[in-house]
Amino acid sequence: MNSKHPETLALHAGWRRDSATTAVAVPIYQTTSYQFDSAEHAAGLFALQQLGNIYTRIMNPTCDVLEKRVAALEGGVAALAVGSGQAASAYAVQNLARAGDNIVSSTDLYGGTWNLFANTLRDQGIEARFVDPTDPEAFRRATDDRTRAYYAETLPNPKLAVFPIAEVAAIGRSFGIPLIMDNTAAPLLVRPFDHGAAIVMYSATKYLGGHGTSIGGVVVDGGNFDWSSHPHRQPALNTPDPSYHGAVWAEAAKPLGPIAYILKMRVTLLRDLGAPLAPMNAFLILQGIETLALRMREHSRNTLLVANWLASRPEVTRVIHPAHHRDAVAAERTARYLPHGQGGLVGFELAGGAAAGRAFIDALEMVYHVANIGDARTLAIHPASTTHSQLSIDEQLSTGVSPGYVRLSVGIEHIDDILADLGQALDRAHAA
Ligand code: PLP
Repeated sequence: MNSKHPETLALHAGWRRDSATTAVAVPIYQTTSYQFDSAEHAAGLFALQQLGNIYTRIMNPTCDVLEKRVAALEGGVAALAVGSGQAASAYAVQNLARAGDNIVSSTDLYGGTWNLFANTLRDQGIEARFVDPTDPEAFRRATDDRTRAYYAETLPNPKLAVFPIAEVAAIGRSFGIPLIMDNTAAPLLVRPFDHGAAIVMYSATKYLGGHGTSIGGVVVDGGNFDWSSHPHRQPALNTPDPSYHGAVWAEAAKPLGPIAYILKMRVTLLRDLGAPLAPMNAFLILQGIETLALRMREHSRNTLLVANWLASRPEVTRVIHPAHHRDAVAAERTARYLPHGQGGLVGFELAGGAAAGRAFIDALEMVYHVANIGDARTLAIHPASTTHSQLSIDEQLSTGVSPGYVRLSVGIEHIDDILADLGQALDRAHAA
């Protein structure tokens, strides 16, 4: 597939037809295992002397198409599909950092990732040092000899301020530290590898799938990071792995291409911790990706219209959207990283505070009230009483959640119907 156009890659990358049946749709290879040709063939596969299917915990042909397609869309070299976005975030870090090591992470994270870093990885001996992403230099200041990776989200909610990918990637590269970007909220709108990131991860549950049917995650290797030139900084890829007879991944992977990072993740973390993506879910996510370019355009268009409309409503005191930032730095980052569309998320604050936020949610008729984003349908939530309710009011405010904050994940319904439902809900919340 020579095309570089996402609309085309989303339909064609990684697959032409089934060699046995000529089927055009990607088959769901619902199998755990694969018949080996001979004892020699099996031994060669296990020793990684040749690549091929062994067992669905570590590879599957349906997942393989998804991996190739997402890698092509991102401009990366290879990918690994896993059972959830959470598994993707965990593996992305665990692939480099071991007990005693640290990562430097943006404070502006999905709550699940925050918990993973602040609690579960900490319990495993990996420290996450959280820094404010408005100042890229904060990443440099938090770095020490045991820093193995930087981590951030491209378009984190609720603040919806674009992360300075190029600036932080450049600081990391000066130390031999890769930047891992969670691009869940901005597929196709930003390609973090184009700005110097080394690894991209997705919760495929959101826009990639797009239909709210399947939990999944993907990690993509940009193939643009020279792991062997930083042996002390990246020991996980530069010291012998006893589970593969002393293989040093940065060297061992070279004959296969610049895929050391993602190969190691597959043959060690996926093998040992075992969170593979089910083939059925890979199929469903592939179905979603076929229309990803169209959907991202519609999500972005509808969301900007909603943001502009909200700004004209008297009950709304503030609109949070990448194109509505008042501070010059955030506005410049939106213009630089998201010139062709600002995604499907918008937040707004209601003058009536928490009571108005809850009343608004209860008054919605078409829009769904769920804790998800990235669905083709419009979704809403009141974070202060749900996703962020375990935080103190001060903590809520520091993450960008005020009592009257409502988050919308704007879908691809007709804009008139979206505005009609939001309008009647605002009217009823105001009257309550
Ligand atoms: N990253 C982001 C930005 C998310 O919004 C989510 C889920 O909401 C995740 C990661 C975790 O993904 P999953 O729910 O697929 O495990």
